[in-house]
Amino acid sequence: MPQQSPLTRIPLHTVDFDEVPKQQFRVYTARDLDKIKELQLLPESLRFEMKVVSAVLPFRVNAYVIEELIDWQRVPNDPIFQLTFPQKGMLSDVHYNRMAMAIRSDMDKQALKLVANEIRQELNPHPAGQLEHNVPCDSAGEPIPGLQHKYRETVLFFPSQGQTCHSYCSFCFRWAQFVGDKNLRMATTEADKLYGYLEEHPEVTDLLVTGGDPMVMKSRQLKSYLEPLLHPRFSHIQTVRIGTKALTFWPQRFITDDDADELVELLHHLVLAGKHVAIMAHYNHWRELDTDIARAAIRRLRATGAEIRSQGPLLAHINDCEDDWVKLWNEQIKLGIIPYYQFVERDTGARRYFEVPLYKAWQIYRQAMQKVSGLGRTARGPSMSADPGKVEIQGIAEMNGQKVFVLRFIQARDPSWVQQPFFAKFDEQATWFDQLQPADEHSERFFRKPAV
Ligand SMILES: *Cc1c(COP(=O)(O)O)cnc(C)c1O
Ligand code: SF4
Repeated sequence: MPQQSPLTRIPLHTVDFDEVPKQQFRVYTARDLDKIKELQLLPESLRFEMKVVSAVLPFRVNAYVIEELIDWQRVPNDPIFQLTFPQKGMLSDVHYNRMAMAIRSDMDKQALKLVANEIRQELNPHPAGQLEHNVPCDSAGEPIPGLQHKYRETVLFFPSQGQTCHSYCSFCFRWAQFVGDKNLRMATTEADKLYGYLEEHPEVTDLLVTGGDPMVMKSRQLKSYLEPLLHPRFSHIQTVRIGTKALTFWPQRFITDDDADELVELLHHLVLAGKHVAIMAHYNHWRELDTDIARAAIRRLRATGAEIRSQGPLLAHINDCEDDWVKLWNEQIKLGIIPYYQFVERDTGARRYFEVPLYKAWQIYRQAMQKVSGLGRTARGPSMSADPGKVEIQGIAEMNGQKVFVLRFIQARDPSWVQQPFFAKFDEQATWFDQLQPADEHSERFFRKPAV
């Protein structure tokens, strides 16, 4: 028998964790850019650019990502470096220069913050009507700020202790929550409101705990939110989903963290009690699956009986190449992860740097699909999470002599819109739904702006 490392034999309970060295969680933010020794090797001009961009957009990266995921030989082109570190092109020249001038002049902190906030306001901090259209109300008509309810079956819950992440993705569509502006945050400390809401809504089958990353919470907190769902009054909640990127950014969460055991036991308990537990794992690149600890975490989660489904956007500079998707989906299948969604980069924050024309996104999706087996073809996409719903680009076709995008809603505010094919005029430049025009009369209603 070949020698096995403890990480290659991780089942649910029998691992001797003393054999796995415990790594301390160490995190760097914009203030600590100069303390990251790997960055010292880069030109000073590049480091200045990072300072400017991270004054506007959130930056946070931990030592595991720096030491084990980023290949520093390949920086700045390394995909995980692009995924986590600020790049000049993330801001327009105008915004970049405004912030750079402010930093070079001797402005005080408060004044710098004002400049940063002005720029942030111009980066569409709340895409797809998240604040205006998705926040539900309780029976007295009062909004419940920590919840979103957009699609009939699924309620999103943003527990206040889970509104950060182990590292931040440079393209994150929830970036506005992380830059300290309280107006932009959506969180609740009050689980009672959640339970009350779920009880009044028997049509809801899925609760999706999200953030930030709920896996930054202590297991004890997660347990206090989730265990009450086992009460018979929540028997309509068949699925508990947890959105997370911890399998990438801090897989130690599931193996060596002090409360890792408590977490896997909680998930196992929910499964045994009859809930479908789905870990909605956020992945962008196969490199994220490529460390022993990441694989061990996946094995241990699967041993709880939870399913792991994967989703993530297609991004320039990170994964806009079919072979990266083929490898990502194949590795996931091998590890027992079910590919779920491929998204289009959303129209917010650093989108200008990451966006890919829709026709190109579809080509990459299609070409990647052609190269994986049926089990790899479960990812739907490329999908745009737009205001009316999740719009999938199904293809490019000809209709009455004009070139069109064939579209469908995978999800919609109005459930009757789901799965109806509709058409937009082909546009080689378009990167988002709001740039598309209906191609025929039948399709027009799907493009109308909702009345607020
Ligand atoms: C994607 C999404 C969901 C979940 O949709 P499914 O298709 O059921 O995975 C729920 N709420 C919002 C706001 C979403 O964007
Ligand atoms: S892990 Fe998710 S919420 Fe956190 S920064 Fe990345 S995309 Fe955003």
